[in-house]
Amino acid sequence: MITILDCYTDEPAGLGVPPYLGTYPRYIAGSLDKIPTYLTIDDLRLYKLQLKQQQEQGGRRGWEKQFAAKRVGKVIKPSQKTDIKTYNLTKNFENIQDILNNTKELIIIAGVHTPGKYLSAVPGTLKEIIKLTKDISCKKILTGPAVYGTSAEGGKFFERVDLSNFQKIKFFNPSYDEIRDFAVKGAEIIKQIPDLRIIELETSKGCSRAKHCSFCTEPLKNRISFRKKSDILKEVKALSRLGVKHFRLGKQSCYYSYPEAVEIIKEIREKFNPKVLHIDNVNPANVITKKGEEITKAIVKYCTEGNTAAFGVESFDPEVIKQNNLNSDPETTYKAVKLINKYGKTPGPNGMPKFLPGINLLFGLIGESKTTNEHNTKWLKKFLDEDLLLRRINIRQVDIFEGTPLYNTVGNKFIKKNKKYYWKWRNQVRQEVDWPMLEKITPKGTILKDVRTEIWDGKTTFARQIGTYPLIIGIKQRLELNKFINIKVTGHMLRSIIGEVV
Ligand code: SF4
Repeated sequence: MITILDCYTDEPAGLGVPPYLGTYPRYIAGSLDKIPTYLTIDDLRLYKLQLKQQQEQGGRRGWEKQFAAKRVGKVIKPSQKTDIKTYNLTKNFENIQDILNNTKELIIIAGVHTPGKYLSAVPGTLKEIIKLTKDISCKKILTGPAVYGTSAEGGKFFERVDLSNFQKIKFFNPSYDEIRDFAVKGAEIIKQIPDLRIIELETSKGCSRAKHCSFCTEPLKNRISFRKKSDILKEVKALSRLGVKHFRLGKQSCYYSYPEAVEIIKEIREKFNPKVLHIDNVNPANVITKKGEEITKAIVKYCTEGNTAAFGVESFDPEVIKQNNLNSDPETTYKAVKLINKYGKTPGPNGMPKFLPGINLLFGLIGESKTTNEHNTKWLKKFLDEDLLLRRINIRQVDIFEGTPLYNTVGNKFIKKNKKYYWKWRNQVRQEVDWPMLEKITPKGTILKDVRTEIWDGKTTFARQIGTYPLIIGIKQRLELNKFINIKVTGHMLRSIIGEVV
């Protein structure tokens, strides 16, 4: 029997960390004769933890029930935090021992190229995956972005480990003709997942720019190609039939580059009427064209509110932009921010603005200097002063992957040189831009609807809406998890808000 072990993926163009379900497990499942058993790294972690406890306690029985109870929070004391390393169990967890005994081939999906902090999941590092799987006696295949390296933390070289644990290491990269059928058939694995998932949908791979950004792995993995609209619709149909209602068109380097960017969301809306329909990844240069304006209007009309166009700006410093061949200069970004605000700023039914831009910034790029932060804060404050809303500013240190121009030229030279400033730079943006921006987006008294309770931390429940970059809301009481509630905004933290149930 073949088993998939999903250790989660996060790439510049594609997310597969719960509550997202990425494309890799779905496509791989669909490529096999029979839908395989689907396990998550959370299943395996909990199983190993149980084995250890069993050994320590002399083989006490009934652990499955105990741990399943732990997952829904029944045995977590008020002082404790939800264990997000074992939170995302599949329906197969209770049979995991039999599944592992009968598995002949274990397909391990992993790879984080854009590490972040995740509210309710922790992707597996290669070191951890090897430790967890080394005594499973079957053929182990490593796939996913980890084939090109993986990183658990920003500002580092990719993880270097002994890969002899895996009998095969292969990037699964079928053509779009093959994916047409794989995606429809592979939708079935959703049946093995008991909790809500937002489905990451793919529109294209590779990057349409002739010269690529210094740090990016996408051009190493793929040549530019686009999926047929009819294939995406077939996939959405298969998933909708299985009860999926939350989608993000997020697997691509730029949503606006997709030739049928207007039609695809119009048809998904009209045919399947999903509860959530969002996008991700946008090159600002493609927003400020006539076509870009049309796409923006269509996104506001057919997608759901709380939607974000994450701009891979990376830096507002002209020198850094030049040396790293970045995709947008500050003027272009400014115009794109303005255009999306023009159409998307008003709140939708769930209380969030319909469609806002987001900005990604990277520290550690070639040519970075003390003035880089001045350029960044100058432009970010300009947005704030002109009442141009940004849904979020994502700041991370660049990861250095083999084969990229960054790796081949300076490596971690600029990270080493400027690391001492990063905390200060980041904090300045958080205090002076993020905080006042959040107060503008969700002023006190705003009602946010369809907020899902996700984890506990002591007496606080953290919740968020389903979608792309949802705001994290801290509610100062323990609420039942996995429920939808409405909240009123009562305060603002640097990047999250405080709310009370209404
Ligand atoms: S625009 Fe730059 S970051 Fe985006 S996919 Fe292309 S090379 Fe990568």
